[in-house]
Amino acid sequence: MNALIESDVEAIASNVERMRSIAGTDAIVVVKANGYGHGALLAAEGALRGGAVQLAVADIGEALALRSAGIQSPLLAWLHSARADFAAARDADIDVGVSSLRQLERAGECGSLHVHLKFDTGLGRNGIPLAEWDAVIARAHALQSAGRLRVTGLMSHLAGAGSEADDWQRVRFAEAISAAERLDADVTHLCASAGTLDSMSGSLARFGVSAYGLDPDGHDADGSVAGDLRLRPALRLTAPVRGGRLAYGYRHGLLTTDVPVLIGDRRIAIVEASANESRLDSPVDGTAVLIGSAENGEPTAGEWAAAAGTINYEIVTRLSPAIERRAA
Ligand SMILES: *Cc1c(COP(=O)(O)O)cnc(C)c1O
Repeated sequence: MNALIESDVEAIASNVERMRSIAGTDAIVVVKANGYGHGALLAAEGALRGGAVQLAVADIGEALALRSAGIQSPLLAWLHSARADFAAARDADIDVGVSSLRQLERAGECGSLHVHLKFDTGLGRNGIPLAEWDAVIARAHALQSAGRLRVTGLMSHLAGAGSEADDWQRVRFAEAISAAERLDADVTHLCASAGTLDSMSGSLARFGVSAYGLDPDGHDADGSVAGDLRLRPALRLTAPVRGGRLAYGYRHGLLTTDVPVLIGDRRIAIVEASANESRLDSPVDGTAVLIGSAENGEPTAGEWAAAAGTINYEIVTRLSPAIERRAA
């Protein structure tokens, strides 16, 4: 018996619907990092059931894996190493986010790739720097006119760093959209979960963490923020216990021993942990819930995050890919 992750595809679908209705727009749903730990394919299924018009991942490899697994929806990947395979993206009908003139030239060489220009609007990472906007837009226009590619989207990433910085980025993004008007892109997207909840701008929302019922601010120990938004946690992590030995340790994704696990209706502390297992404060047998829903008295990703001094995103994305994922 091993640790198990059960991912609630229906909960993801319902969260996506809820976020779409809050945004008042269609949505690109982010399923990077193995679907925020839920399993990329299960996350993709939930997102599509919830009405996502496109799925997004960080790199082309993740997108190709979704295609091979049978996902037929529009896909977008925006983070590319120098060796990223744009031709494979074109062949698999994957849209590519472009963050520099160099990437744009590589996209143009493929012929017929669909491109989302990704502008840096103040975050200062992975986006076309302001000084290059004009050159990239002019070159994109030339390549598009020559039939070498199509600019289908304009995008940027809102940090959610606080309202003043966000306002600045929103203004910058509006400038990018107007500078790129002649490209006649179909969609514009800026807001991830926090930005969508704060004040939606752009023609599509592009959220991840909220789709999984997790608090977009990352610090919601009791699950109340997500609960107030009527988002449902979608991940349940359990592991077997024998004689107080829990089959879960650091190599599975454990970050701290400071959160008690739930067995039956008892919360039992973790006394010590190693790579492969942990010892509990009682010689019990059964199944321990490590991550579940606060409503049921189960520990949450937010509770682990608070105890470990990090955000819920890190808790769920650290869960080892070796753990079996199953639909709930
Ligand atoms: C991860 C990511 C998102 C989703 O952000 P959430 O805060 O999880 O909603 C959106 N856009 C980009 C570029 C990202 O890297």
